[in-house]
Amino acid sequence: MAAVGWIGLGNMGGYMSANLVAAGHTVRGYDLNPAAVAAAGERGVETVDSIADAVAGADVVFTMLPKGEHSRSVYLGEDGVLAHADTGTLLVDSSTIDVESAQALHDAAAAAGFRFVDAPVSGGISGAEAGTLTFMVGGEPGPVQEAAAFIEPMAGNVIPTGGATTGQAAKICNNLMLFINLAATSEGAVLADRLGLDKQVFWDIASVSSGDSWALRTWYPMPGVVASAASNNDFAPTFTAELANKDINLAIAAARDTGTPLEIGEHVQQLFQRLVDAGHAGKDCSMIVSLVDGSLAE
Ligand code: NAD
Repeated sequence: MAAVGWIGLGNMGGYMSANLVAAGHTVRGYDLNPAAVAAAGERGVETVDSIADAVAGADVVFTMLPKGEHSRSVYLGEDGVLAHADTGTLLVDSSTIDVESAQALHDAAAAAGFRFVDAPVSGGISGAEAGTLTFMVGGEPGPVQEAAAFIEPMAGNVIPTGGATTGQAAKICNNLMLFINLAATSEGAVLADRLGLDKQVFWDIASVSSGDSWALRTWYPMPGVVASAASNNDFAPTFTAELANKDINLAIAAARDTGTPLEIGEHVQQLFQRLVDAGHAGKDCSMIVSLVDGSLAE
């Protein structure tokens, strides 16, 4: 069994690291947030007080952090992973970050003699808890294959995407589609309600019809229909509006670089921006339904 260093024990990393513990690995976990650390400790993660302690003697280090700036500081900072890990340690960043930051991490890791892969995930916290996430893994073929063996207890699918940063590219495009689907599902759900349809009956129809999507089946924004949905819980976050806004902005930036028009994506980004500007950055992203049903106070 392996020694795993884990940095970032939030909504996703908390469950993912617990699945490595359940698979028999020793996991040393670090996070800035004491509540996240305490929850991970209860799930069997050995919690430590620094990145240096998390990576000491590790066969593999996973990071699951909010944004590119966090991954850059955790890997490249004075107290960071590259400064403290042994070069024999495989490095896996599963955060969703911009391609430029991912390339900077690949370059810095290679220059310091490390094997590094970008390996973002899809599947939400329900997939993280169940160990059924899809991992998209970019990098050199050898490290990608090595990473797949460690990833297995957390994953339903492990898909090599090609060279450095291609995992992030796949993830950014996937999430563009996800958040457009979420906005579309919110509009359909509210309209169906106002046309007098029972919300469960409409969901039963859409989930076996051409309106189906992962957003509909996992994040349905009307309460009392889908057990995993944050709408049942006053939009307590499973995937924050802030991170959704970050992801769709990553797609918009990539689209600008490639001259790709994202008319729908840009409109959906404005919906998340309104949610963030109204003070709900920390709420679940499915709260964009409040822009459709008119319940958001702006
Ligand atoms: P989160 O905010 O719940 O967790 C991130 C954790 O990183 C927090 O606990 C935070 O304290 C910690 N952190 C930040 N900076 C740190 C540092 N310097 N050192 C140590 N810990 C630090 O976010 P999440 O929902 O778990 O998402 C993590 C990543 O996964 C994001 O990039 C997100 O876009 C992506 N993602 C999220 C979901 C989802 O459904 N929540 C699904 C797929 C991918």
